[in-house]
Amino acid sequence: MAKPKPPVQKNQRVELTFEDLTHEGDGVGKIDGYPLFVPYGLPGEKATVKVVKVKKNFGFGKLLDLHEKSPERVEPPCNVFFQCGGCQIQHMSYDMQLEMKQKQVKDAMRKIGHLEHVPVHPVKGMKDPWRYRNKVQMPVGERDDRLVAGFYQKRSHNIIDMDTCVVQDESNDRMVEAVRRIAERYGIQAYDEENNRGVLRHIMVRTGQNTQDVMVVLVTRTKEIPNQDKLIDELREAYPSVKSIAQNVNPRRTNVVLGDDTKVLYGEEYIYDTIGDIKFAISPKSFYQVNPAQTKMLYDQALDYAALTGKEQVIDAYCGIGTISLFLARNAKKVYGVEVVPEAVADAKENAKLNHIDNAEFYVGEAEKVMPWWKSQGLNPDVIVVDPPRKGCEEQLLQSMLDMEPERIVYVSCNPSTLARDLRILEDGGYETKEVQPVDMFPQTSHVECVSWLEKKM
Ligand code: SAH
Repeated sequence: MAKPKPPVQKNQRVELTFEDLTHEGDGVGKIDGYPLFVPYGLPGEKATVKVVKVKKNFGFGKLLDLHEKSPERVEPPCNVFFQCGGCQIQHMSYDMQLEMKQKQVKDAMRKIGHLEHVPVHPVKGMKDPWRYRNKVQMPVGERDDRLVAGFYQKRSHNIIDMDTCVVQDESNDRMVEAVRRIAERYGIQAYDEENNRGVLRHIMVRTGQNTQDVMVVLVTRTKEIPNQDKLIDELREAYPSVKSIAQNVNPRRTNVVLGDDTKVLYGEEYIYDTIGDIKFAISPKSFYQVNPAQTKMLYDQALDYAALTGKEQVIDAYCGIGTISLFLARNAKKVYGVEVVPEAVADAKENAKLNHIDNAEFYVGEAEKVMPWWKSQGLNPDVIVVDPPRKGCEEQLLQSMLDMEPERIVYVSCNPSTLARDLRILEDGGYETKEVQPVDMFPQTSHVECVSWLEKKM
């Protein structure tokens, strides 16, 4: 039987009561069973909505007028929240944000993983869910002969002219503004995306929140930066906390921020930060968790699930700069880390030395290729920890984990959908998911991080 036609048309105004939220935090209301997704609508609210897109099974709307407000609605503190593509849910109370994220994880477990039996704990949140980000990458553009640095507007490459970002460490805010101002004064042109011309593409800043060390990376199209020395001198003078200024050259026409070549223009190759009592050296291209306070919580949970006694051989796949590996190493016999970015592995080795940890070894390579090789060399880990990017683990890697038959697997994930998919494969391969603990690493956004604990079935 043919499906009935959608009951709404584009540009139509409708009265809607929101019943639910999507995983991105949009409100969901129905017209004769046909769902409309509407940014900024909250469950329980009644609103007039303009239909902006009509698809076969669902449509999108724009909130025009709110008639009944949810008690969970709050005033977003950021004055560009409704334009900016950075945050999605500043209009929700923090309690509601945490509940939404727990539900998102539960839904993924049930719908994608068919893992109804797995307990998903309440999300561990922050006491103060603002100004938590230690790293910013801001695109630079030009408007009326001025340089502007700001995030892109939603679904566009228009740069918002903003002077502060309420989820950034204040030091990052200050540093972006300082580079923008000084670059403007010395006539350093912004990159022109359309024609692949100009110089300054992005200003990247990372602040070690526990050390207050600051690294500035100027991402440029060209090798030369006009008035480079003046820019560096002024920045250093104004902000002595700047420990490292680097340049990354990216000549290509691409959305990828960083290019291949990075060189230090001033100061150190690294900055330092600490998580718990472990110190980390971080170089410009290495991945480092953006919310260190919550990272401590995440790693403590991973360590707890790993239940090490000091006798275990452990693999940490997707190890980055060795953060989880070094946390584990102190309670294990030996830790093997694998990571695809060579600079990160160099940092990991440096970090082991820095902390006098001599039972951790790090390898450069794709985890899905290195793991089978380790197996062929006779490595039999007791515990495997994985922390893959959003797309989850390669099937080959899941298979190697199953082949290695560790007692326990700890899976850290920033994407509940791929987590649930992979947990299903591990369950079918003989493991039982005991629990999932979500941690809020990214307040005000719809993202959520999880740690999961699996045991080999008897
Ligand atoms: N565990 C680390 C890093 C997690 S982020 C931490 O908590 O800081 C995921 C890491 O996986 C990144 O460093 C990325 O470079 C790396 N990566 C991506 N694909 C990979 C692959 N196929 N093999 C190994 N590492 C990979």
